This record gives sequence, C-alpha cells and structure tokens, in this order.
Amino acid sequence: MNIDLRSDTITIPCNEMLEKMMCANVGDDVWEEDVTVKELEKNLSNIFGMESGLFCPSGTMTNQIAIRVHTKIGDQIVCESLSHIYNYEGGGAASNSGVSVKLINGDFGKITLNQIKSSINPDDPHYPRTKLVALENTCNKGGGSCYEMDSILEISDFCREKNMRTHLDGARIFNALVATNQNPIEYGKAFDSISICLSKGLGAPIGSVLLGSEDFIYNAKRVRKTLGGGMRQVGYLAAAGIYALEHNVNRLLDDHERAKCIYETLLGSNFVEFVNPCETNIVIFKLRSEYISNVLKVLDQNHILYSRFGKQTIRFVTHLNFNDKQLDFLIKVLKSLN
Ligand SMILES: *Cc1c(COP(=O)(O)O)cnc(C)c1O
Repeated sequence: MNIDLRSDTITIPCNEMLEKMMCANVGDDVWEEDVTVKELEKNLSNIFGMESGLFCPSGTMTNQIAIRVHTKIGDQIVCESLSHIYNYEGGGAASNSGVSVKLINGDFGKITLNQIKSSINPDDPHYPRTKLVALENTCNKGGGSCYEMDSILEISDFCREKNMRTHLDGARIFNALVATNQNPIEYGKAFDSISICLSKGLGAPIGSVLLGSEDFIYNAKRVRKTLGGGMRQVGYLAAAGIYALEHNVNRLLDDHERAKCIYETLLGSNFVEFVNPCETNIVIFKLRSEYISNVLKVLDQNHILYSRFGKQTIRFVTHLNFNDKQLDFLIKVLKSLN
C-alpha cells in the first residue's frame, strides 16, 4: 500500500459521500434547475456572507473566470511569484483574458500592502492598467502559509480606494480558517471574489465554487459558458461538496497536526537543509544535496509518494486518507534516514 502524500487532491470519496451523491435531487443546471447545485452555492455564499455563488468543475476555472470578469484586455494583474494563477494555470490569464501579470516576491507566498503599492502602474498610457490583486490563502508553494486578517484588510481597503478589484484564490481557505480561527464573513467583506476548492482537503471528487456579488456572478456565468463549464445534472457532484462542508471542515485540524509532526521530525534531521514553517497541511523541505539520492531511494522503497519542487525540494501534503498509522510509519522511515 502506498502512503500517498503527493497532494490533498488524491482522496477517494467515502461510502457516505457516495450515498449522498446517489440520492441527490438534480435538474439541468445550465437551465438553473438543479436544486442541489443551488443549495451548495447558497451554503458557501452564506458561510462567507457573499451574495452569490457559482459551481464550476475546477479551481483553475473559478480563478480564470474571476480574472476575466474583473479585467479588460490589456490590463495587468498583481500576483505573488509562487501563486497558482501564475505558475499552474497554463498561462490562462494571458490566453483567456489578455492580461499581463506583475509578480511580487513575497514571504512564503504572502505579499504586503507596501509591495502592492510599489507594483501599481501610474495612470499613463505607456503602462498597462493595474486592475486586480489576487492573493492566495493558504499559499500552496509557500508551504501552506496563512495571511493575517489585518494585512488582508489593509490590502482590500487600499484596492477599493484605487478602484482595483481583489480576488482570493482560496483553494485551501478552509485550512486557513481552521488554523487561524478567522471569521469567513471577514473574507467575504474583504474580497470582490473568492474561489474555493471542494476537491482538496475537503475530499470531494470534483468541484470549486466562485463567490461574489450578484452582478459579478451574473457575468461569471456567461464566462463559464464560454469556457465550456456549464454542466447539466451536476447536483450529483454538488452533493459531494455539501457533504464535505458538513463533515470534513473541522477535521482539517487533524491533517494540520499530522503535518506538524512531519515538520518537527524534519527539523531535527541531518539530511534536511531547510524546512518551510508549517502552519497547515503542507510540508515543504529542502534536502542537503549530498543526501538527495539516498532519501529519494528510501522513500521509494517504502512506497512513500511525494511531490518534487525542483531538484532539492520535496512537498508532503496531509489529507483525509492519511491516518496516524501511516504517519507513524513515515516518521520511522524519516528517522531511519539520519
Ligand atoms: C489546486 C489549486 C487550485 C485549483 O486547481 P484545480 O486543480 O484546477 O481545481 C487553485 N489554486 C491553488 C492554490 C491550488 O492549490
């Protein structure tokens, strides 16, 4: 049996989730007749205190729709250099929306108000118009780091003042919420749009929801159609999301605790050069170069799966199909490497 820590996307729906999916009330969602999709959209928009929601196949699509709705061709958006929007969406910001990206090198994926201030272009036809700031919380490549609410609020106030929009790539926002005890309603107030993945730590097989104002979601629905994301009896999938929100949010703390154990073991290991601070369910660490081949060999021999970020860096992600028994085994293997 593999111990699969490549990502929190690899989870398999449990029987109860599958039963909920089988029993869902469905209709054609392109005709707005799927009550289960509507229920999911309503549940999430209520949690964040936003007007409206839109169910989509993926978080890439919800991010791409948000960029398209918030910008005009030729505009510029501001992102952190490790962000999913910049690195992992196939260059969609350029091909779908015709915008350029101004990158900021932040602190484990997080950017500050001052960095944003100095990245905004003057109102001069030489420069692209800076129209959107996109934050990621938690920051995946930053090692699952979380923003402080104060820094989010000052960024959001500033952007409103400058007539710029704000988008939150909240693929793992529930990890941030349980880790920090922040209030989701504050997120709903701070951002013009929020994208939330149900298929990461929450354990649904598919699905993301985009939240925003009624007007924003009206426009988002048109863009979703052009991207081929209008789906029919998709309440079967939305039902998995409803189940996930009911059952799999608070348990994210278990994933965080297990990640912390891995983090602490790595901190004391001589084959490790650096470990990112661990706040949620992601552990990113850099191997000392002379140990790389042995560490990878031993992990492979023990069927421990991981992601690699470049030659020296490894990522483990904990999730609901990773239990304490597997954790104990992993810790034993890691300790044996010293
Ligand atoms: C996974 C992820 C997404 C969306 O990915 P999809 O695979 O398209 O659902 C967006 N942002 C971040 C930070 C992610 O980790």
